[in-house]
Amino acid sequence: MSKKLKETYHRLGEIVVRKGAARPRDVDEALALQRAAIVSRKPAPRLGDILVERKVLDRHTIREILEEQKLIRGESHRLAIDLREHDDVAIVVLEGRLDETKQEHLTRVFERLMNRGFARLAVDCSRLVYINSHGVSSFVRYIDEARARGGDLKFFGLNPDTKFTLDRLGMSRFIQMFLTEDETIRAFDLAIDEYMSRGALGEYVAGVDSRLFHLSYCGAMQPMHDEDKVFFESKKHARDSGRMPCRKCRP
Ligand SMILES: [Zn+2]
Repeated sequence: MSKKLKETYHRLGEIVVRKGAARPRDVDEALALQRAAIVSRKPAPRLGDILVERKVLDRHTIREILEEQKLIRGESHRLAIDLREHDDVAIVVLEGRLDETKQEHLTRVFERLMNRGFARLAVDCSRLVYINSHGVSSFVRYIDEARARGGDLKFFGLNPDTKFTLDRLGMSRFIQMFLTEDETIRAFDLAIDEYMSRGALGEYVAGVDSRLFHLSYCGAMQPMHDEDKVFFESKKHARDSGRMPCRKCRP
């Protein structure tokens, strides 16, 4: 077996374990079978085939994982964009890889939605396997535009890698990201200003017994232990608790 092929097989094992699709023991056993074949100079079965034969995984799952790897490595540039509507929120479902080859395409989708009057957009990233800075830039313009019209562009279902990319590009300071679609839709009930302070997403906090609420980094909050604090997801939630904004940190 060539070196490259062997590496691919080992990587498949690593990926299925990381994804929780197989237990490490199953993969180790499959690798041992493969090694045994190589040692006795028989043709080595593929790791995927062994896992299928031993009913650890089905073919479909393996094909999906291999396809996903191609997207991550950039050997495939597939991006499917699907649109749904939920109340007055447009759900943009992204599946595949979002990079410079698909940036224009997505930009046109956002343009059309804006022209149709949608200012509330939720991007479903649960099947987005890869995004780079070009992909991210296709959102940036529409975030401002949506907010200027009283709406927002919010995101949900990001996997750890795509979330890491958004963090690294400094996006997480001014876009809202959620786990589920429901959470995302609910967050549209409040204007984005209720979550933002001086251009960045704020974290609002108060002392349990205090009449004031603050930004988390306010000097007034520093000496306080966490168990003596209450946290609020928005300024409105903080005001609704009967508290006033601190005059020093001006949340
Ligand atoms: Zn303060």
